[in-house]
Amino acid sequence: MEILETINLTKKYGKGDTEVIALNSANISVEKGEFVAIIGPSGSGKSTMLHLLGGLERPTQGTVKIENQDIYKLSENELAKHRRKKIGFIFQQYNLIPVLNVRENIEMPLRLDKAKVDNKYIDEIINFLGLTERQNHLPNQLSGGQQQRVAIARALAAKPAIILADEPTGNLDTKTTEEVMDLLKVSIKNYNQTLIMITHNEKIAEKADRIISIVDGNIISIN
Ligand code: ADP
Ligand code: ADP
Repeated sequence: MEILETINLTKKYGKGDTEVIALNSANISVEKGEFVAIIGPSGSGKSTMLHLLGGLERPTQGTVKIENQDIYKLSENELAKHRRKKIGFIFQQYNLIPVLNVRENIEMPLRLDKAKVDNKYIDEIINFLGLTERQNHLPNQLSGGQQQRVAIARALAAKPAIILADEPTGNLDTKTTEEVMDLLKVSIKNYNQTLIMITHNEKIAEKADRIISIVDGNIISIN
């Protein structure tokens, strides 16, 4: 079943002489439960693509459909709501709040949204990610790998259908990278989620169901 589709998705920055076509008429289709890796050189448009898929910025042309809904036909409020319900973001920087403990960081998006916190489910994710003993610790008391696992737990807290990840293991050593990737893969399987991940790591890309390769804003191959 298709969960996400882009139609001639295009983003330009600047005007005239300074115009940059960051993404040029991208057409992709992603199935529910798929793990898709996005690869390409620096400045090729990967982050732009991820931001557009997540509704973080508006395309210049074309659109994104998620579960058959054209997300750019939504109002700003509806788009923000869609983003919080359907999408979990994971970035290279963990963006944890230093004065909140692990559990509070994980629950933060739900509390901001005044959503009901499903304590049992949060316990389950914390346990699954091996953070049970750490849930009262502050971020600066954790290793890099642990902090990234907190960021993953936070992304999972609202049970999103789609996880968008921008180099989530970029700061981690090889062993921790493998651990984090294994957890993510089990998570998407357990919760029937779709994972779209930018990576420079060939070993990670090889494990994806498909690899989308972008150069100079153009998708040059989908394998
Ligand atoms: P990648 O993630 O592959 O490194 P990006 O999507 O960040 O690539 O960038 C694609 C192109 O768009 C680059 O040429 C970059 O300089 C340009 N770009 C990205 N964001 C902006 C912005 N906010 N303003 C102007 N140009 C931008
Ligand atoms: P990694 O190899 O994942 O970066 P570290 O070597 O940084 O891990 O940390 C190893 C262990 O020490 C981890 O269990 C981590 O929680 C703990 N630790 C790291 N930094 C701190 C800190 N500032 N305060 C308390 N515990 C820490």
